[in-house]
Amino acid sequence: MANSHQLLAGNFNTNPYWWDAAPPETAMHDLPGQVDVVVVGSGYCGMTAAAELAAGGVSVAVLDAQELGSGGSTRSGGMVSSGQKLVVSNAISGASPERLERLMRESLASFDYLKELVASEALDADLHISGRFFGAYTPVHYERLRAQGQLLREKTGVTVHEIARSEQHSVIGSDYYHGGIVVDEYGGLHTAKYHRSLRDLARRRGAGLYSHAPVVRIERSAGGFKVVTGRGAINAAHVVLATNGYTGGVVPYLQRRVVPVASYQIATAPLAPDLMAKLIPGRRMISDSKRNLFYIRPSPDGTRILFGSRPTINDIPEAEAALLLHRKLVEVWPELQEVQVSNCWKGYVAMTWDKIAHIGEKDGLHYAVGCNGNGVALMTYLGSRIARKVLERPDAACAFDEGKFPGSPLGGAQTWVVPFGAALYRIGDCFDAMGRRN
Ligand SMILES: Cc1cc2nc3c(=O)[nH]c(=O)nc-3n(C[C@H](O)[C@H](O)[C@H](O)COP(=O)(O)OP(=O)(O)OC[C@H]3O[C@@H](n4cnc5c(N)ncnc54)[C@H](O)[C@@H]3O)c2cc1C
Repeated sequence: MANSHQLLAGNFNTNPYWWDAAPPETAMHDLPGQVDVVVVGSGYCGMTAAAELAAGGVSVAVLDAQELGSGGSTRSGGMVSSGQKLVVSNAISGASPERLERLMRESLASFDYLKELVASEALDADLHISGRFFGAYTPVHYERLRAQGQLLREKTGVTVHEIARSEQHSVIGSDYYHGGIVVDEYGGLHTAKYHRSLRDLARRRGAGLYSHAPVVRIERSAGGFKVVTGRGAINAAHVVLATNGYTGGVVPYLQRRVVPVASYQIATAPLAPDLMAKLIPGRRMISDSKRNLFYIRPSPDGTRILFGSRPTINDIPEAEAALLLHRKLVEVWPELQEVQVSNCWKGYVAMTWDKIAHIGEKDGLHYAVGCNGNGVALMTYLGSRIARKVLERPDAACAFDEGKFPGSPLGGAQTWVVPFGAALYRIGDCFDAMGRRN
């Protein structure tokens, strides 16, 4: 058996696997003095907002504190959802049936929107609609997933297959799960190539993109707002905040509503094609029914396994996380015991207190945040919706722009919320583990 040192490949690094093909971008051009709209945050949400705004004929500057696209968007698993998260995370338990239906329908619309955007703009994104397997951690979870699958079928018309444990090897070469469901309307893309294509699209339409311009303050001014950054200020009639899991204290209203939670992923070294075909036949996306779930997928070129979860209650260095995630990978596939890890990276997902993303306006500032780890399609779509709202287009109505956006019941940012929540999740999963019969 390999010792822990041998498990990290010689070229191990803590950047996302995705960045090898399409690194994030430095864009240090001088900031303009005045634009119609400043977009804060250069992820999928900021990019699609900018592309839509520029297409609507207004001048736009996208500002990012770091390199363009170095936030959650290019750190994700790249799984393209049609909205199941609302159901499987029980986010819907607090929503009225009518709102639930609108949220689910619009989540499905976000999936269609992304597919249409990629096709119509010929975006290089390695998008592949493969379906997703939701694995049941226990037999009880299997029954729950079947019921959730039924709800998804009824409300959104997606195609759901129930996979009994005896048939499970048709979707995952592992006995770890107790069956599950497959949803066909689900896909995967290359996170960083997709982001690069969105940057190109936003620029083609006329938006200006600026890296290393952290917004430190937003002040009211005669014409709207003065957006003060670490390298100059811009006056703008409107501001769109698209900071998701990287939301800081610039707008305290959002900081009280968005909880950044780190999630980690590893990429294995390349595996033999026949082994890959056995581990994930059909190359579907995979996740499971645990609170601290595993999310697993083949790389778009089918050569590696990408495996994500939160390995510990507190944040830890990536090299340490790599070994812990490798151990979890081996729980699913014992035959990967000796397989090396080439990358381990982390990114921040944006949790909200009602588990639902929100767009809207507060004190004249527009925002689109809080995708709860489900943002590839959704934040792409919500970027376009918030832009339509700024443009006052008649088709701007959006179910994610309804209802109260609940703030923290605990007041301002609380450093202990995440470790406390992670500990509760862990305890819940331990109890559930007692229900695993083999
Ligand atoms: C590890 C991980 C795995 C995930 N896996 C999936 C998945 O498989 N499927 C899925 O659907 N979703 C997934 N998600 C969620 C989703 O991909 C992202 O959260 C989503 O892309 C967020 O996009 P965004 O544009 O809203 O924000 P981001 O891409 O996070 O961009 C926000 C940007 O705002 C910038 N910013 C913040 N504050 C300031 C400031 N004051 N001034 C200037 N810039 C600022 C940040 O630097 C950052 O670049 C995952 C997320 C993570 C982190």
